[in-house]
Order: sequence, then C-alpha cells, then structure tokens
Amino acid sequence: MSDRPAHTAPVLHVVDDALTIGGCRVDTLVSMVGGTPFYAYDREVIAQQVRRLREALPESVSLHYAIKANPMPAVVEHIASLVDGLDIASIGEMQLALDSGTPSAAISFAGPGKRDIELEGAIASGVTVNLESVNELDRALHIADRIGVAPHLAIRVNPDFELKRAGMAMGGGPKPFGIDAEIVPDVIKRIIEADAVFRGLQIYSGSQNLNADLLIEAQRATFALADRLATAASVELPTLNIGGGFGIPYFPGERLLDLEPIADALAALLKQRPASLHGSEVILELGRFLIGESGAYVCRVIDRKVSRGRLFIITDGGMHQHLAASGNLGQLIRKNYPVVNATQVAGGKRESATVVGPLCTPLDVLADQIDIGELQVGDLVAVLQSGAYGLSASPLRFLGHPPPKEILV
Ligand SMILES: *Cc1c(COP(=O)(O)O)cnc(C)c1O
Repeated sequence: MSDRPAHTAPVLHVVDDALTIGGCRVDTLVSMVGGTPFYAYDREVIAQQVRRLREALPESVSLHYAIKANPMPAVVEHIASLVDGLDIASIGEMQLALDSGTPSAAISFAGPGKRDIELEGAIASGVTVNLESVNELDRALHIADRIGVAPHLAIRVNPDFELKRAGMAMGGGPKPFGIDAEIVPDVIKRIIEADAVFRGLQIYSGSQNLNADLLIEAQRATFALADRLATAASVELPTLNIGGGFGIPYFPGERLLDLEPIADALAALLKQRPASLHGSEVILELGRFLIGESGAYVCRVIDRKVSRGRLFIITDGGMHQHLAASGNLGQLIRKNYPVVNATQVAGGKRESATVVGPLCTPLDVLADQIDIGELQVGDLVAVLQSGAYGLSASPLRFLGHPPPKEILV
C-alpha cells in the first residue's frame, strides 16, 4: 500500500476510467450539485481512513480531528461520529464542534490571539482552552471568575525541538504558538493554585510529514518533554495531546506514510510511560491525514488554446477556490497536485497541458505541463487530494467569481 504513487492511482474510486465519489460518477455529481466548480468528499473513504488508523494504532490512543483542515458542517458531523474529539481554533469552529454533538469535554481550543468573547464562550461551554501565553492564562482566569465557572485549561507547549522536514514547522525556537517549555512548570502550578481544572499538555510540532522515522523521533521527544515538565511541576497529566503531523502524498515521487512503525513506536512509548503519564489520555490530533485524500475539486474546461507551442486548458476553477493546488499556500517551490481528466483518468489519448483558472494572474495555475487525458471544451477536470485546506483556505472573493459548491457523498 505504501508504494501507491500519488499521481497515478487516486484513493478515490475510478469506474470505467471516470472518477467516482461516494458511488457517483463525476458527471452525475455535476447534476447533483448544480454545476461546476465544486468540491466533493467521499464519506466511505473518510471512514476507511479512520478505520485504517484505528487498526494500526494502540487501542488506548484517542483520535481527534482538527476542524481547520475542512470545516464543512456535514464533514465535521461525519468525522465527529468516527473520532473521540475535535480540535478547534476559533469561536466559529467551536459552534461547529458543539453542533456536531461532540461533548465539550472532548473539544479543545488552540490558537494564538483568542479574543475575550472566545475565551468566555469556551469556558462557559466547558471546552478545554489550550493556553498560548501567560497573558492568556490571566485573561482566562479573570473571565472565569467573572462568570463563575471553573475553566478547563491545558497548555500548548512551544517545545525545544522541531519536527524536521515538516511541511510547516510549528514548534521550536521563538514562536507565536504555545508557551515556551522553560516556563511551563510554573504555569501548571499557577493553574492548579487558581483552582482551575488542569487538563494537561498539547505539544504540536508540525504538519504534513511523510517520514515515519522523523515522526517517531518527534513522538519520543514529545513524551520525554511532557514527562520532564509534569515532573518539574509535580503533577500527573490528565491528557497529553501529542499533535500529529501525519502527511499525505501530493507530489510526484511522494509515498503514503507508513503507519506501522509509527504505531509500533507509539505502543512502546505507552508501555514504558513514566509515572507522570500513567493515567494520561494520549491524544493524536489530525486534520489533513483524515480528510485530505477523500476529496476532489472538480471544474469544467472553458477554453483550450495553444500559445507559442504550449497547450493551455482554461477552466472555471482556479486559485481563488483552491489556493493550495496553485502552489500559493506555503509551498516554497511550485509542484503539481495530481490533476486528471475526470472522465478519462488513466486511459485514452494523452497530451501535455498546462491547466489554469480564469483569473488574470500568472499565479492561477492548477497544473503546469502535466500528462493528462485529452481535454476539450466542456470536459471535466479534477484536482485530487483536495479534501483538506481547499475551499476554506482560499481567497474566495479574489476577482468576484461565485463560490463553489461542496458536497459530501
Ligand atoms: C492545523 C493544526 C492541526 C492539524 O494539522 P494537519 O497537518 O492538518 O494534521 C492539528 N493541531 C493544531 C494545533 C493545528 O494548528
């Protein structure tokens, strides 16, 4: 399974060479949603991914979904029914999480710059606030005092290590995220002295990693750091959120993450856990890994032209609706997402084409000189691996096109 090349074999089903999502052919989906462009997510592929994880991971590990990867309400509700909790980063995501029926005790709220209204909402709801600064602790305690509710507080730790070669490093060195590990023991003591409910630590060190060895190294460092901090504060941790960082393959040459060695290493860590972590619920929080492969962005060919020898396929979808595929969401070097002719995925006549969107900017490229099934005006193009950080991470209002539809099938 780990040999599956991202560009030739989508996780989504292909029937008679047509992309099929939730059992529906892509052209039928166009009729169902009422036109292009749209995002479609496959319910069963999401469920399979969660099953695959659960089967690999030690049973006692809890699985949380980070809503920011895909906040479509139907998706959140579906995933909420499959996992043990939700991670949120705004009051809007808090509403989604609570609406999904997830108990507030299984929701945690991270993110720098939480406004008073967000802290108040979380404390009143019994949602765990992952503190990102000492000042935020002071504000949370003040608000809790005013509304007469004991706050559930955890600490997001800015570790003294970094998840190497992560798509986006989120810890280590000076960071706006989390409280520096050096002062965490004192902050734990303050939380306990204030009679707040101390929920534990969150140590999130990065995202989009496909290297099992590096993830294992980060997990070991996370357990060691958590033990050091808890022991220095003389507490046992009720929860230890070890982050995630599990990546999915997007680009040519990338391979599926090998779960087995990660699961084995995690099982060993749990077996040898020190006293400070004996009773801890260990939580893995994932976004992209749970939802990323289940979705496609589908658009229609509006024009086909050759400019000085290069074939351009111009579609009604583009960077305004899928910033990540255009390479403008934190990629250092632009690489092609897997982009296919949605009704001629692998077969038929092939050609080299540059697939672009309708925006008047050279940034609006969905695929640069890829090998793709021949496309005529009216045909459908699909960007695969688009379930995470797609629609909600895109500058929708740029150039004023109407927003795309979304469907979970
Ligand atoms: C974004 C984020 C996640 C999810 O990251 P993925 O790479 O999508 O798995 C998890 N935890 C925190 C704190 C985050 O900010």
